[in-house]
Amino acid sequence: MTGHSGDAHPTPRLPTCEEVLTFLWAYLDGELEEEKRRAFDAHLSRCESCTAYLATYRSTIALERASAQSEGTPAEELPDDLIEAVLAATRHPRS
Ligand SMILES: [Zn+2]
Repeated sequence: MTGHSGDAHPTPRLPTCEEVLTFLWAYLDGELEEEKRRAFDAHLSRCESCTAYLATYRSTIALERASAQSEGTPAEELPDDLIEAVLAATRHPRS
């Protein structure tokens, strides 16, 4: 009867999908320790569903930030000011 006591080679355990999803915000905010980030990256590199979720999560955050900046107006890729400036320049080229 020999039990495994004191493993000399602790295998780095990859986080489960659930853990990845739970700490996704920390991962994206860069608040995870280097070691955990690597474990996350390793999991994401071989898990399609988490990668897909991460992409969705990222775009959701981008939308939320954009709408937070413009107070409820739908998120646009370009600020109105810039679009107007470009349109004005196109319509009335300065000579
Ligand atoms: Zn996963």
